[in-house]
Formats: sequence, C-alpha cells, structure tokens
Amino acid sequence: MGHLVRYISTDATLSIMAIDSTDIVYEAEKIHMTSAVVSAALGRLLTAASMMGAALKGEEDSVTLRINGGGPVGSVIAVSDSKGNARGYVEQPVVELPLNEKGKLDVAGAVGKDGTLTVMKDLGLKEPYIGSVPIQTGEIAEDITAYFAISEQIPTVCALGVLVDTDLSIKAAGGFIIQLLPFAPDETIDAVERCIKDIPSVTQMLSDGMTPEDICKKVLPEFELELLDSSEPAYVCNCSRERTVRALLTVGIEELQSMAEDEKTEVCCHFCPKRYIFTGDDIRQIIEQAK
Ligand code: ZN
Repeated sequence: MGHLVRYISTDATLSIMAIDSTDIVYEAEKIHMTSAVVSAALGRLLTAASMMGAALKGEEDSVTLRINGGGPVGSVIAVSDSKGNARGYVEQPVVELPLNEKGKLDVAGAVGKDGTLTVMKDLGLKEPYIGSVPIQTGEIAEDITAYFAISEQIPTVCALGVLVDTDLSIKAAGGFIIQLLPFAPDETIDAVERCIKDIPSVTQMLSDGMTPEDICKKVLPEFELELLDSSEPAYVCNCSRERTVRALLTVGIEELQSMAEDEKTEVCCHFCPKRYIFTGDDIRQIIEQAK
C-alpha cells in the first residue's frame, strides 16, 4: 500500500500533500518489466497522478496524465481515481540510456522535450476537462509545475522521485506537491522559497525512514499544518470483461467481422496483466450488439 497525506496550513495560505508511492511503482515495474530509466519516468508520472487524483472532489472523478516528448520511451500514461489508486502504461518499457551529467537516470532523455503534457480530468460532467502544456524539461516534476501554473493558474512546487535498486526493483518512490491558496500573501511565497531551498530529495527522505507526514513537516518547517486526510492508495486497474466488450464495440463492424473468423481473440489490458479471451461466437454476439 502507498501512503498519502494532505495538509492545509493553519493560516490557510497553502496546501501540501505527500506520498510514499513505493508500492505503486514497485507493482508498475513488475507488470511492465520496465528498464531503470523507464521505471523512473513511469513512476514519477504515477506518483503525480496519485496525488492529483486524491485532490479530486467527486467519488467517481478521475485524472489521466499523458506525456509524450518524442523521446525513445514514447507516450507515458498514468491514471488515478479520486482515492489516489493509480495505474500506468508506457509505450516502450525498455529503454537504455547512459546516466545524465548529474549521475542520475536520464528521465528527460527518455521522455524527450519536444511535445506536451496533457492532463484530462473526468469530473462527471458531459465533457472532461483537458489542459495541455508544452514539456519544460521532460523530468516530469517541472512539467507538472508548469501545467498547474499555465492551465490552472495555481503556483505550485512539485517534487517527484524514484529510486531503482540494482536488481531493477523499486527501492523507494514518492513525491510532494505544495500549492498556494487564493490570496496567499507574498510572505507565504517567500517563506516557501526559503523552506524548499535546501531540502533533501524525496527518495533520500524516504530512504531515511521518513513518512509522508514527516516529509510535509520537514519541507515546510515555517508553517503550522493541519491534516486534511490520509489514504492508502495502490496500483489498481479497473478493467473488466464488460469494459473490454465496450472497447471492442468501438473498433467497427468490419474489424469485428474479421475477428469473428478467428477461433479466438485475445485482448490484453494495457495497464495490468489481465487477458480477455473471446471466441468467434462471442465476437458474433458483440457484432449483434453493435448493430
Ligand atoms: Zn487491467
């Protein structure tokens, strides 16, 4: 289970949330068998999605993050429900790149910088909310910050980290998001800047045994924080045979008719290891539904 907390400052000028997403990213690596740099890219996006999902108000709301910068990893997608339960997908799970000049996994090199980060929020309205921003660095945290600044006009500090072990499993993953609330005074901005100047990386704090609660307090020592909520999000896929049938209904009669000639059709979920098998008869029934 992951662990996610959300706080508001008692002076009501800012909010902060933090997550230990180690288990979520651990599961993602096991499912997609990603190389180290791809685990970092997908893990950071999953971590951001989980926090953004947990901030949604409606029970049925969800958020989808998609980043594609033209790099070797292709599109990276992360989806979260309103409890922070996340799932993800990456076009190219295995990309090998040398470490960057800081000696870190080269997430920017894998994602690329020529493209967009798109955020789609399904808030139960007729049309989903869609915001899209040009990629800033491809390191993902800065891109999330830019999304909030440009699309939602919310001054935001975002930090995300994934530490990959030598056996490629995930040692630690997590992040935090600080956001100014409307009418926050300049003093709050100055105080936040002072606070975040010399903080250790999220994965360092998690490796030191700190909880998301500890991280929020460590990051904002100048603020008194009041807990809004805490939750235990996980890697969760919501696929089902019924949803797969609905997806098949969208491929078109012609395609379905050619599928019906096969003895069986196997549909694999993009987000989890589940496979759904349809016989020719099953497909013919779906064609009847589609008519
Ligand atoms: Zn699935």
